[in-house]
Amino acid sequence: MSAQHDTDVLIAGAGPTGLVLACELARRGIAFRLVDKATEHFGGSRGDGIHPRTQEVFADLGVLDDLHAAGAGGIPMRKYEAGRLVWEGHPGEPVPATPGVPHPNAWFVPQFRTEEVLRKALAGYGGQVELGVELRALRQDDRQVTARLADGTEIRARYLVGADGGRSTVRRALGIEFRGETDETTKALIADVRLSGLGRDRALAWSRDGELASVQPLAGTDLFTVTASRDDVEPTPDGLREWLNRMSGLDLRVHEVHWNSVWRANARLAERYRDGRVLLAGDAAHVCPPTGGQGMNTGVQDAHNLGWKLAAVLRGADEALLDSYEAERYPVAEGVLRLSGRLLDLLREDDPEAHVRGPELNQLGLHYRGGPLAEERRAEPAAVRAGDRAPDAPVLLDGAEVRLFELFAGPHWTLLDFGGTSAGLALPGLDAHAVLREPRPGAVHDVHGHAHDGYGVDRPALLLVRPDGYLGWAGAPGDLADLRAYLLPKLGS
Ligand SMILES: Cc1cc2nc3c(=O)[nH]c(=O)nc-3n(C[C@H](O)[C@H](O)[C@H](O)COP(=O)(O)OP(=O)(O)OC[C@H]3O[C@@H](n4cnc5c(N)ncnc54)[C@H](O)[C@@H]3O)c2cc1C
Repeated sequence: MSAQHDTDVLIAGAGPTGLVLACELARRGIAFRLVDKATEHFGGSRGDGIHPRTQEVFADLGVLDDLHAAGAGGIPMRKYEAGRLVWEGHPGEPVPATPGVPHPNAWFVPQFRTEEVLRKALAGYGGQVELGVELRALRQDDRQVTARLADGTEIRARYLVGADGGRSTVRRALGIEFRGETDETTKALIADVRLSGLGRDRALAWSRDGELASVQPLAGTDLFTVTASRDDVEPTPDGLREWLNRMSGLDLRVHEVHWNSVWRANARLAERYRDGRVLLAGDAAHVCPPTGGQGMNTGVQDAHNLGWKLAAVLRGADEALLDSYEAERYPVAEGVLRLSGRLLDLLREDDPEAHVRGPELNQLGLHYRGGPLAEERRAEPAAVRAGDRAPDAPVLLDGAEVRLFELFAGPHWTLLDFGGTSAGLALPGLDAHAVLREPRPGAVHDVHGHAHDGYGVDRPALLLVRPDGYLGWAGAPGDLADLRAYLLPKLGS
């Protein structure tokens, strides 16, 4: 950090996106400030579905065990129409783990808990959230960004990240258009309540006279999340009891409303993610309907993509690395908007398929093939190629069981040297591992062949895994000079 700046990175907004970004910077020793205009931490369920790819991100950050302890897996659901059972099933039928996918099912944790866990991790890295600090305006030049706060003081930073949600002040201050639509005719009340009269082993939904109500146990708590397809239901115990009993025909009692909010069918995408030294991430860059539960997951992965790049650029890496953030993440957000919009249409049509969380929601198939950082040098690329998610595999290292994901976890790049032919590539910020079918001291022993199978490798190959777990570069053993030329500008000091 230079003396003329107050900090290297100012992050506006300490929701899941801002918190993950702060963890990413903190564990790389980058100076930052994470400010939030709220005077107390968010207390609602909102994004409770953590999809498989996001669990992998959380494992990389070292918080997945805490999140698993704080939540639960998916539960079955019953749907009634005018009192008649019309659908019963599992919105996301659990599937077994495989060597390449250790967390194949969505995991449910209320968003306020996820944020608590992230704040604890951040504290472990020496960081914290500054509450009651609102960014009001900003200006920038080619050296720094100056943010003006609500109390009139200023913070000068080398970069600013707007992780300040759908109504982003940062996005508006930059004049970046938020393209899309808000459908004011589709609104719903959502409330976390304490109620009695229902078990916690399934979710229930009732439609009647063109209206929809649902109740879902909120994992890891004694609360239930109630939704009402109209926003004029009183969010009080009496108002919600009256609504639920009318829709369900049951005799439920609502004792306490813990949190409530009205959501609108919003589908918008910022026209760009970067303006000079300012970047947008999470809901500030894209908002989608909650159908499919993609919003928080996408924001967390934005931050995971941006964090290592920002840290590297601050350490002297090529600035162009920052442009790859929008190039990679914008198409992902476009896909998420399409998907959640399609599910919202199904919900409007009262089609039970709207509740089904199929594999297209798990975000494991997202990739950056063809993007600015994906360089595939092999004449005959394997099934997993540059730009793809690098799969996991159980292997042995000096006789001890270890997973490739454990080797990837942390702020470094990882070279998987299938065949062990490139000994001697040593660069700071790079962990290189020979991956062999036979045991050799210091090498990864692919004892079951899962690494070779998972990556589709049947001949010597070098695969370079980025800090965020995607394959950046893939080549043959003779391509070492090319690998260095790829990696060096991205490392920083
Ligand atoms: C009903 C509902 C259900 C949902 N279900 C899911 C789901 O199952 N799965 C999923 O992935 N997503 C879901 N989402 C979406 C998810 O909640 C959001 O995508 C997620 O909260 C976005 O995180 P974020 O950190 O980008 O923004 P936010 O969580 O909105 O955080 C932004 C933060 O910025 C702060 N802020 C705002 N302006 C300023 C300023 N000027 N200065 C400083 N701080 C500021 C705010 O106080 C806030 O803390 C759901 C949303 C809703 C409404």
